[in-house]
Amino acid sequence: MLKHKYSVFIFFVLLAILFFTKASILFYVLLFLSFLAITTWGAFDIRLNYFTKAICKSNATNKKNIAITFDDGPHEKTPEILDVLMEYNAKATFFCIGKQIEKHPEILKRILNEGHIIGNHSYSHSKWNGFFSTQKMVSEIEQTNILVSKLVNKKVRLFRPPFGVTNPNIARAVVKTNQIVVGWNIRSLDTVIESENAILNRIKNRLKPGGIILLHDTSAKTVSVLEQLLLFLQSEGYQTVTIEELLEISAYEN
Ligand SMILES: [Zn+2]
Repeated sequence: MLKHKYSVFIFFVLLAILFFTKASILFYVLLFLSFLAITTWGAFDIRLNYFTKAICKSNATNKKNIAITFDDGPHEKTPEILDVLMEYNAKATFFCIGKQIEKHPEILKRILNEGHIIGNHSYSHSKWNGFFSTQKMVSEIEQTNILVSKLVNKKVRLFRPPFGVTNPNIARAVVKTNQIVVGWNIRSLDTVIESENAILNRIKNRLKPGGIILLHDTSAKTVSVLEQLLLFLQSEGYQTVTIEELLEISAYEN
């Protein structure tokens, strides 16, 4: 809880000031609404590092490196994504959901065999994830790490919270499970935007060395966007690398 601590402190200082100056109720309402707005923004924008430290890009911008990350697999579409990555000799990072690993263990193995990196994206990817207790969140992370460990004998260290949502419980769970939180700084919105061109242009407009792109290995649309993106990256002289290589960190415990 980085910036959240300061917000809480400022909130109570302002509350005390309102109390001692016998301010009108309107100022209390304004204070509560502002605090709520800041906290909500902090919960939904992982780049703010509001509740927990999340690595969202590399600061080493001297190399033209870029990391493509795929969330929500392994999925039926993942093999097609892997084929395209192989064709362009690109390496990527896959933040996998535990439940999906149970459905597609062979795809998880293939991801690793082809030189890509696995990260943890919770066990259930529940839409109620933001309301889970610390203990429940710990078990969400541990269940997936155990699955990966049993299948491929790797102890995962990289975690990406579902929907990029963070809060005090998730922050504590990450510390307890010794995970490194990895976010992104280029959100493709590939699950929201219909047009492939619009998705591609969104990425191109935000592209900078050291960037982390968020995609999902769950649709034919993304397979097609990936092919065009890799062509573009190649023509611009970018190297597409894993999170491990981009951030010079180790993705697994020894
Ligand atoms: Zn997700």
